[in-house]
Amino acid sequence: MIVMKFGGTSVQDEEAIRRVISIVRGRLSQHPLVVVSALAKVTRLLGEIATEAEAQHEEKVKELLLQLSERHFGLAKALLSSSPSLLDECLGDVRKHIQGLETFVGGVCQIGELSPRSHARVISMGEILSSTIISYAFNAEGISCKWIDARRMVTTDDNYLNARPDMSVTEANVKRIIGLESNGTDIILTQGFVASTAAGATSVLGFEGSDYSAAIFGMALEAERVEIWTDVDGIRTTDPRLLDGTKKIDAISYEEAAEMAAMGARVLHPLTIEPARQKNIPILVLNSKNPSCEGTVVERSDEAPEGPKAVSSRNNILFIKIETQQLLGVTNILGGVMEALYSRKIPVIIAEATESEVGLIIQEEFYGLREALESISKWAKVTVFRDKALISVIGRGVVTVKGLADKVLMAAGRVYLANVSANMLSTNYVIDHEKLQDTLKALHEYVFA
Ligand code: ADP
Ligand code: ASP
Ligand code: MG
Repeated sequence: MIVMKFGGTSVQDEEAIRRVISIVRGRLSQHPLVVVSALAKVTRLLGEIATEAEAQHEEKVKELLLQLSERHFGLAKALLSSSPSLLDECLGDVRKHIQGLETFVGGVCQIGELSPRSHARVISMGEILSSTIISYAFNAEGISCKWIDARRMVTTDDNYLNARPDMSVTEANVKRIIGLESNGTDIILTQGFVASTAAGATSVLGFEGSDYSAAIFGMALEAERVEIWTDVDGIRTTDPRLLDGTKKIDAISYEEAAEMAAMGARVLHPLTIEPARQKNIPILVLNSKNPSCEGTVVERSDEAPEGPKAVSSRNNILFIKIETQQLLGVTNILGGVMEALYSRKIPVIIAEATESEVGLIIQEEFYGLREALESISKWAKVTVFRDKALISVIGRGVVTVKGLADKVLMAAGRVYLANVSANMLSTNYVIDHEKLQDTLKALHEYVFA
């Protein structure tokens, strides 16, 4: 069995979905479990519907709901024009889902209150709608397809918008349900991103969570591999939206790919790697617009080559410097700082400490950060540097590459913090945001030319 996940751009319209069907057709003998995202930009549209409803902007909500339904009805009609009876059935299902959403959002509008639980329920609809239409399209093309609601399988905690699965319950659900339902059907189709709590309320796995879903299904089924189909030829040496001349990475280890995701490369959701790594399942990153390209394989580190793999960057970060007059020692100073951050659940990207100083890199304007810094400033001097960016070179053995710091310094003019990650898989530099583009270009050229 294999898992094939198609992201938003891979299912954005009729043409894209026809490509998906043809890609899956070529893999039927491997019994695919197909996982789909919402159509491109639909999750964002749903998020807007939710917040406009909370603000009680009824007219705006109606307008956005109309956009949502036109897009999905239009797509169903285009895909199923030659199968009138399937089209009828599909339109009925889509109508039912959209009416349910309208009623629910109407309620949010009335009370003007949006709990995380209601929010999750609204934004989960993108995957429910896309997967419904795509499953009819497979059947219309002669590939028998069984639609399964992922909420029956992925069981999470009740952190509704960033829910974390209970792996053992989920694994048992997936095995049982897929085992029962896969008889006599060519493929099984389910949704990424959506899940439910043990009490049965809808939850979601967080922004871009469909990759994570695919890895969870792969782990539970002990799949031969997990294929992540997207809109680029594999994982590149840097985000191709930021730089021309990037190269494809042919093979990368689980740990390096996780480091890339942690340091800002938004090609794979950061949590995707762990379930696959646990069972040693290779992840392939492939291009649905160029399916003959071999893409990138993410695999065990003793199979992937050594050396720098990528330069990644992260914007909108704060560099925070905490200084004391006395030599408190690393344990005391770091303990004090972390106490203030931990109790407010503030995620730290990098922390560096000496006997009297701590340097922190934190995502900008995180809720509760100001309060945390105020409490630290009672016993230390706190300086916040804004408009900073993090630039990282990632790969096993990257610490042996000479001249990286020089290159960064030359291009950026000033380095606020330089660091080698504890796992030695990345070297990281904090620079001024306005110098990021030039530094990225110079560093990428230096490492990969
Ligand atoms: P999907 O909708 O398929 O999940 P995403 O937009 O989430 O697609 O991810 C694909 C995008 O990730 C690419 O279009 C690319 O701009 C971006 N990206 C960021 N860093 C990298 C990288 N190092 N290699 C490839 N793509 C990257
Ligand atoms: N649709 C969800 C999102 O946009 C999940 C995904 O596409 O990965 O965040
Ligand atoms: Mg994605």
